[in-house]
Amino acid sequence: MRDTQTGGESLNRQFKLKGKGSQGRGKSRRHKQSDYSLLLPIVRKEDLPEEYRHTAIEDLLLYHNLNYPFDSYNRVEMLVLTCIDHRIMLNLPNNFSYIIRNSGAKIDNVKFAVSFAVAVAKIKTIALIGHMDCMMLNIERHKTGFIKGLEEQGWKRHRAEKFFKKMQPVFGIKNVVRSLIDDAAKLRSWYPKTLIVPVCYSEKEKKLYLVKEDRA
Ligand SMILES: [Zn+2]
Repeated sequence: MRDTQTGGESLNRQFKLKGKGSQGRGKSRRHKQSDYSLLLPIVRKEDLPEEYRHTAIEDLLLYHNLNYPFDSYNRVEMLVLTCIDHRIMLNLPNNFSYIIRNSGAKIDNVKFAVSFAVAVAKIKTIALIGHMDCMMLNIERHKTGFIKGLEEQGWKRHRAEKFFKKMQPVFGIKNVVRSLIDDAAKLRSWYPKTLIVPVCYSEKEKKLYLVKEDRA
C-alpha cells in the first residue's frame, strides 16, 4: 500500500538518478528539488483537487491510478497528449480519449491535430502527460547517435546535423515538470475555453501525478 510520503520519496529517488547535469550543481539540484514538490500523487479519490471533480481528468486518474471499473462511452471525453515512449501505457476505456503521441509530449508540431480535436471533435479537456525519464531530457546526449543513425539510413552527415540543430529547441527538455507547466500555459493561450491539465507519468510506478502549477 502506498501513501503520499512513499510516493514523494520514490519520486525524489527517480529524479536524483539523473542529477548529474552540466549546469551548476547546487543550484540545479535545488531547482529540481522544488519541482518534485509540484507533483501531486493521486492514490485515493480524495487526493483529487476540487477543481477537477466531475471532469474527464477525474475519470482519467480514477481509471488509470485507482483501477476504477470502466464506464462505457458513446462519445470521446478528452484528448491525451503524451510522449511516444513505449513505457507509457494508460489504462483507459474504449472511446474515452483521443491520443496524440509526440516526442517529449511536445505541442508545437502537433498543433493541427490538437486543433482538430478541439474544433471539430469539440474536445473540452486535454491532459498533457509528460514522463520522468524522457529521452528528450538533455537531448544533446543523443546527438551523436541521431546523426550516425540517419547516416546509416543514407542521409548526408551535414543534413542530419542541420536537422538535429533545427529540432533541438523544439524537442529538447531541461526539466520535465517545468516543460509541462510551460506547454500547458501555451496550450491555454491557444484554446482558452478548454480545460488543460499537466500530468506526469512515473515509469517506475506506472502511475500519474498531477502537476501543481502554483498559478497566481
Ligand atoms: Zn519521452
